[in-house]
Amino acid sequence: MLTLSQVNKRYSTGEHALVGINLTLPRGQVMALIGPSGAGKSTLIRCVNRLVEPTSGSIHLGEAELTRLSGSALRGARRAMGMIFQEYALVERLTVMENVLSGRLGYVGFWRSFLRRYPQEDIAEAFRLLERIGLPQAMDKRADALSGGQRQRVGIARALIQRPRLLLVDEPTASLDPKTSRQIMRLIRELCAERELAAIINIHDVALAQQFADRIVGLRAGQIVFDGTPQELDAKTLTTIYGEEEWESTQAQDGEAEHRTATQTAVPQKLSLAAGGTV
Ligand code: ADP
Repeated sequence: MLTLSQVNKRYSTGEHALVGINLTLPRGQVMALIGPSGAGKSTLIRCVNRLVEPTSGSIHLGEAELTRLSGSALRGARRAMGMIFQEYALVERLTVMENVLSGRLGYVGFWRSFLRRYPQEDIAEAFRLLERIGLPQAMDKRADALSGGQRQRVGIARALIQRPRLLLVDEPTASLDPKTSRQIMRLIRELCAERELAAIINIHDVALAQQFADRIVGLRAGQIVFDGTPQELDAKTLTTIYGEEEWESTQAQDGEAEHRTATQTAVPQKLSLAAGGTV
């Protein structure tokens, strides 16, 4: 459904952020994108929705070649992609309902949305989504009165009201506690299954990626160095993705390195340190 062929991105600073990326994402597949800071994860997601222009290569979403679109055709294609961000990007002084409905902006036109006159069917869909994400009672609350987890749920509903075919998710749990992080990842996973939505999730936490993704792609210095199932991601592969140095130093800090082989719990937790300093 989504295909990247030989995608390269070199920034004007000379930074080669993506090198010959080939990737095909079928309908309904939840893919986690992991790798150390600076590996190119955000650049890859941004190339797909064309917030960043690839230097060369092509990206197709279904029949449409995203890399050739401009103007209204590009806006149309972007509506097929729901974005979920780390910092939720909600409008603080608007209500939960209004934030969800703002996901329809691309459809209803500027003046109508400016006057906040949404079609009845959009309002009904927003109600259904708020029920589904477990926040029907918060409909009239202002966004700034919500907890982090609730805000991310609203961000998810806002992405879904566009009826996208693909979700692009950038660090959805970076500001959340571990329990809420799991709840949010579980919700994204369930919604993808219910709606046959494909997703690319840029995620720091390897353990969460292993628990909730169908497929894991590891990036290092702009290249894909691993593409497989969560079960195939072992300690050796994690060393390839994150690098020997960080991997060894996190083991040394631990003091029990010699006991540790590839496990699905201990290894990823350590590696979130190597990946950028958050645990
Ligand atoms: P990640 O999301 O894995 O941390 P990024 O995609 O943000 O990685 O960055 C990949 C590389 O591209 C890094 O070396 C980064 O410094 C560089 N980069 C990212 N954005 C820009 C930009 N706007 N201008 C120049 N270089 C950039």
